[in-house]
Amino acid sequence: MAHDIEIRGLTKSFGSHAVLHGIDLRFGEGEFIGLMGPNGAGKSTLIKILAGVYGGYAGELRIGGAQVSSLAARSDVGFIHQDLGLVDDLSIVDNLRMGEAPLRRFGALLDHRAEARAAAQALELVGLDRPVETLVSALSPGEKTLVAVGRLLARGARVLVVDEATSTLSSGDAQRLIGSLKRTVDAGATVIMVSHKLSEILAVCDRIVVILDGRLVEDRPIGGLDRDGLVRLLVARDAEAHALEEREAIEPGEPLLELDGVCGGRVGPVSLTVRAGEVVGLTGLAGSGLHDVALLANGSIRPADGRVRRGGDGRTALVPPYRERQGGFDDQSIVENLAISALPRWRSAVRLLRGAAERTDAEAMVRRLAVSPRDPDRAYGDLSGGNKQKVVFGRALLRAPGLYVLCEPTRGVDVQTRREIYRLIFELRRSGAGVLMVTSDFEDLAAVADRMAVVDDGRIGAFISADDLANTDLEAFV
Ligand code: ADP
Ligand code: MG
Repeated sequence: MAHDIEIRGLTKSFGSHAVLHGIDLRFGEGEFIGLMGPNGAGKSTLIKILAGVYGGYAGELRIGGAQVSSLAARSDVGFIHQDLGLVDDLSIVDNLRMGEAPLRRFGALLDHRAEARAAAQALELVGLDRPVETLVSALSPGEKTLVAVGRLLARGARVLVVDEATSTLSSGDAQRLIGSLKRTVDAGATVIMVSHKLSEILAVCDRIVVILDGRLVEDRPIGGLDRDGLVRLLVARDAEAHALEEREAIEPGEPLLELDGVCGGRVGPVSLTVRAGEVVGLTGLAGSGLHDVALLANGSIRPADGRVRRGGDGRTALVPPYRERQGGFDDQSIVENLAISALPRWRSAVRLLRGAAERTDAEAMVRRLAVSPRDPDRAYGDLSGGNKQKVVFGRALLRAPGLYVLCEPTRGVDVQTRREIYRLIFELRRSGAGVLMVTSDFEDLAAVADRMAVVDDGRIGAFISADDLANTDLEAFV
């Protein structure tokens, strides 16, 4: 009861754009709630209102029965946003201490030992076995998230709100994070987690809440739902249009990319061929050099050794792995972001659109990818993460090259967009393009790769075919 959260008639607009329409929700103690819904539905806006990032809403928030304007000031409520707010150049213990009154002994002397003990306890809460003096920059993305969760728990958080923290993690890191969240729920805490990953939601949540276009459309216990049931629930409104296609049999054509004993970045020597009409998948853990293979294939990293041969018209387009940093220009419009043909190094190099034809193409792409909001003149920076991904993807499609290098093509996108992206990849394959897909999401490989291999320690392992893939337990394989 003390930490029960009640949301009544929550309504929020940005200017004339209404984003939340009268949301009513109650979260009780000991519940693990999966918050789902398409990109742009309003999930992050809801969370940011709870966190006190956005004011100016209509409706009521209560915690433990008491009305509040936000939960920002409550040490018993903690938020994990995608930006974790950790300082890379400081140690774990210094990060845990940030914003806390230092533990003192004999007046002004800092008690480092007591702080180290407190930090070690915080790490124990999340099952992270690292010395507290470790620099945060030396941690994997998942370990950083665990530190952020440990910091909240150590400060007494009984409610954790986690907004898409797993979408950028390797599957091992994601499982660790979810395991530690689950343990806090078992100990009586409340976790509200936004995720598009069905397996995660099914594995740990007791209850699922679905928001669509700023309205609550589903709020039910997860019991009795299997994967198909959950997909049906999420895409119920247009299930037909989003049914996953069968893979057509296509005989691969000429090689569009050949890497022969190539070294560069953190990888090598690697050899790899991508032919017209095939989708080649690569996966691997963080730190394996996986993304460097993509950058070599795209030509963004110059090989230090070995040979790169390009067939067809020799043109390549890249969907980069970190759309938040490498994706686009926040204060340029959607249409401008679609039309820049390559990401220039300096923003002064961004040119005005060359002509009306380009604008028409870009507008058609906004419709084709169902970018939300549909207004092509809205700023890229206002888009939700999944919609940014669509714009970055759309930019590659507009270039219509022979070879596509797609890094984490479905990172952070909702179920419908995921299917749409798979459909687009099939369309590229059918049109005779070659696709190199580099992903840490096994579902991508299972859905569209004709053959795949694991990258480990900068080398590419043996390829396995789509048929063998269907019979392999990939999670165990990597
Ligand atoms: P989700 O997290 O469900 O993907 P968001 O809550 O991020 O969705 O976005 C909901 C809608 O609100 C989107 O249409 C988005 O473009 C819009 N939006 C979000 N933040 C802002 C903002 N600061 N200014 C204007 N519009 C915004
Ligand atoms: Mg969001």
